Amino acid sequence: QAPQQVTVIGLGPMGRAMAAAYLDAGYEVTVWNRSPGKDTELVARGARRAGSAADAVAASELTVLSLIDVDAMYTALGGADLGGRVLANLSSDVPDKARAAARWAQERGASYLTGGVNVPPTGIGQEGSSVFISGPEEVYAAHRAALDVLAASDYRGADAGYAQLYYQLNMIMFWTAYTGWYQALAVAQANGLTAADIVPYAGYTADTMRGFYEGGAPLIDADAHEGTYERLAMCAASVEHVLHTAADSGVDTGILTAHADLYRRGVAAGFGADSSSRLVSLLRGAAP
Ligand code: NDP
Repeated sequence: QAPQQVTVIGLGPMGRAMAAAYLDAGYEVTVWNRSPGKDTELVARGARRAGSAADAVAASELTVLSLIDVDAMYTALGGADLGGRVLANLSSDVPDKARAAARWAQERGASYLTGGVNVPPTGIGQEGSSVFISGPEEVYAAHRAALDVLAASDYRGADAGYAQLYYQLNMIMFWTAYTGWYQALAVAQANGLTAADIVPYAGYTADTMRGFYEGGAPLIDADAHEGTYERLAMCAASVEHVLHTAADSGVDTGILTAHADLYRRGVAAGFGADSSSRLVSLLRGAAP
């Protein structure tokens, strides 16, 4: 059986890891990157260096893109013949840009899948890694095996924007939690503590969050906000303590002030006796 072929465009750390995973899996791999020099190891391992992005796309039915964002695809592939090609754009971006990119590719005769990669480059080709995919189901079905070489594909539906939507939902939780870690570290350091001092407790807090998500989701979906365990008024008082601990420590309070303001607005809107899940409707702009 002839080896399967794949093209990888964009050889940052992520694209290089993807091309390497395809080489490991026995694929014939064609690579292209805007700037020279990033494909040296891949070519030494047997990848073919395309002379242009158009040449790279012509080499394989399936092209995986790993670029800084969706707009980079227009520059890279603007002059390429995309008729009959399949593009799997695994570059991160916002859902609407993914939808526009799908239309752009389809107008040029290509099939288009969007991907949101849930792991760093070191996770590519590893057990337990996943990538959100959306786009036409038959295109996904035809190329699922190739996508699974990179990470277990998690199909999120036909809407081209959905892989990015799921990805960005994860990123909202990731970045706010990561910033919370830095905020806690700033307060810790201002009080003579180190990251090592607090990391066991950070791990405990992170583990605890799963229970809040899983326990709260059915109630939130049922629009049930009885404040049995965590009344918003109690949460708002706790958030004020957090803000003032930071202020008393002399560290920046910009993020915590915005945070406290949200809880204050929830109480002012009359939700004090309800669960803090009322804040979801407040964040959506619902009138109190
Ligand atoms: P890099 O920023 O290191 O690489 C970006 C790539 O995009 C480079 O190959 C760069 O080419 C290319 N590029 C940028 N602009 C253009 C353009 N206008 N035309 C053609 N090529 C262009 O990113 P990573 O490799 O780290 O990540 C790639 C994608 O994967 C990103 O969308 C990122 O969000 C996503 N991702 C990354 C993760 C990570 O941990 N690294 C984790 C999950 C997702 P050049 O070399 O010429 O600059």
